[in-house]
Amino acid sequence: MVIERARKSKIEICGLLFGRKSQGEPLVEEVVGVPNSLGSEMGFRMEPTEAIRAIENAERKGLELVGIYHSHLRCPPLPSEKDAEGRVLRNDKVEEVRIKTT
Ligand SMILES: [Zn+2]
Repeated sequence: MVIERARKSKIEICGLLFGRKSQGEPLVEEVVGVPNSLGSEMGFRMEPTEAIRAIENAERKGLELVGIYHSHLRCPPLPSEKDAEGRVLRNDKVEEVRIKTT
């Protein structure tokens, strides 16, 4: 479903991955799309109110935020400079997963 959305979208799509950590490994149980407030084909910013609502809903179900996702339309399926900066700011230590949609 996420891949289909990414394939059809004219802007980058983004969202949150919720689940549980089992022995340090994140297990994704729920994928929630969040609107890209930049409306850009070259970048994304999750709409903050929707992101917070998604996190609160997940926490009520006992799930935690285990990752984020976004699509690339006009650049290779590799982390961009902006992506790398974001990871440093968040102190991310997550594995990268790349999915080709075309
Ligand atoms: Zn990116």
